[in-house]
Amino acid sequence: MNQRVLSGSDLAERARRAIPGGVNSGQRSIPGLTDLVITEADGARFRDADGREYVDYHAAFGPPLLGHNDPDVSAAVAEAGRTVDLCGVGVTTAEVELAEALVELVPSVEKVLLTSTGSEATFHALRVARAATGRRLVVKFQGCYHGWHDAVSLNVISAPERVGARDPISAGILPEVLEATLVLRFNDAEGVRAAFAEYGRDIAAVIVEPVPHNVGCLLPEREFLRTLRDECTRAGSVLIFDEVISGFRHDLGGWQAISGITPDLTTMGKAIANGYPVGALGGRADLMELFSSRPGGSVFFAGTYNGHPAVVAAALATLRKIRTEPVHEHVFRLGDRIRTGLSEVFAGLGLPAVVTGYGSVFVAYFMTGPARTYDDLLRNDASMFVGYRRRLLGHGVFELPLNLKRSHVSYAHTETDVDRLLEAAAAAARAQLAD
Ligand code: PMP
Repeated sequence: MNQRVLSGSDLAERARRAIPGGVNSGQRSIPGLTDLVITEADGARFRDADGREYVDYHAAFGPPLLGHNDPDVSAAVAEAGRTVDLCGVGVTTAEVELAEALVELVPSVEKVLLTSTGSEATFHALRVARAATGRRLVVKFQGCYHGWHDAVSLNVISAPERVGARDPISAGILPEVLEATLVLRFNDAEGVRAAFAEYGRDIAAVIVEPVPHNVGCLLPEREFLRTLRDECTRAGSVLIFDEVISGFRHDLGGWQAISGITPDLTTMGKAIANGYPVGALGGRADLMELFSSRPGGSVFFAGTYNGHPAVVAAALATLRKIRTEPVHEHVFRLGDRIRTGLSEVFAGLGLPAVVTGYGSVFVAYFMTGPARTYDDLLRNDASMFVGYRRRLLGHGVFELPLNLKRSHVSYAHTETDVDRLLEAAAAAARAQLAD
């Protein structure tokens, strides 16, 4: 007897019965895409249970810099699976090699610890900053995301009336935890100076995405990052660059290597293991030593899966490929072509757009310029942003149809993929305008 082939909607319905909301992470359930069931992914593409294939520019929110299931990374992971396993004691040779590589590559990193996610890395960064300073307050910026834990779970994407107010992203957080986090405006050096003048002696840490990619792309002004560095140094606060997106993707040394501004601590994740679950926290040796398990270490740090051999093998293989092949050259060239091409498409149609990004990251806001602060992004036409991306899906091009989300190009994308994106962009924008 023939078995009925299950469609995406059958499987998604099963998912919703067993999984709250039918997905395993907060932003995977997208209006209009609730029946999306992924069955295969490789290179620059993924396919769904209904047989549709997409050129993937969403890239899982950023990890697969080399593309999905990169063969060299997959081979390294398989090899790790044959030779070593998680033993939960001591350290492996591969962990030592990865730590040494991060120390060599990332300017602020004198010592480094591995976690399984970026959220754990930012959690521990704040904990050690509070331990080292004995202070209470943390500063973050409107539009930056640093993971799901309480201290940073506020003011990421806020409605206009919530900017400037406390805007938690979740219920269930103690108000006193939220109150210990000050939210400032990105690229507002004056606001930073004013906050330090008032609260400086209580500020344990400033945490910042040096390039806030969780709202697409705001490029940092030099004076702003310089001010963060100077104010933290003067006040004795810990400056944390959250390079979970920018690390490895923009440069092997992260944005700190590009900007020449060195934080005290750095968090990393995503692209450093090309899709395997990783986070890393590194920085000044005196701070990192507080985690030491030897006598003297005072800050607790643990995780059953930290430094998992499969993940570390993936990270080392990713690093090897970035160092030996023109990975950055390729993704930067394609990123530039996409940004220039999209600008031309929208200008040709008379559609106001700001196409921005850096290297492999791109985003088109539907508004007139500039795009330097979060407040600027409030002018973006959200229904055009989402509507345009929904139409791209019909052309087999996947950019996440969610307001302000960035897109990524990988080493697996080709010039032909870019041609296809630009053709789809023209058709999608034309259809939006005709609507
Ligand atoms: N920091 C930044 C800048 C991020 O973009 C993210 C994830 N989007 C995180 C931290 C949290 O990482 P994870 O999802 O691996 O916990």
